[in-house]
Amino acid sequence: MENNNKITPENLAEYKTQLQKKKARLEVQLSSFATKDPNLKDDWDTKYPRVPEGNLEEAADEVEEYSTKLHLEFSLENQLKDVNGALERIAKGKYGICENCGNPIAPERLEISPEARLCGKCK
Ligand SMILES: [Zn+2]
Repeated sequence: MENNNKITPENLAEYKTQLQKKKARLEVQLSSFATKDPNLKDDWDTKYPRVPEGNLEEAADEVEEYSTKLHLEFSLENQLKDVNGALERIAKGKYGICENCGNPIAPERLEISPEARLCGKCK
């Protein structure tokens, strides 16, 4: 009997391609305003604005922008960690297993978000 919940090697190759594309996209986004920390894996630091001296209004804008970027950095960084985690699981042959209950994650779910770490029930 055919098992529809099984990830085929073709599926896996497809998820891997998607994940690599996503990783590249996230890194491009991050590198537009942050620098990669050479010492910490998957850690990025938002460039601190050069605040023009004596211009308080502009300085306030810069600081506000910096705070927006920090939030964005946090969100992109988390996505990147998930993507990298999924790529590691593919490399280890442990891809598509829910981290919480150990059941397989439905391929339909992986198709939408190949970096998913939890099955539909545990999400
Ligand atoms: Zn689960």
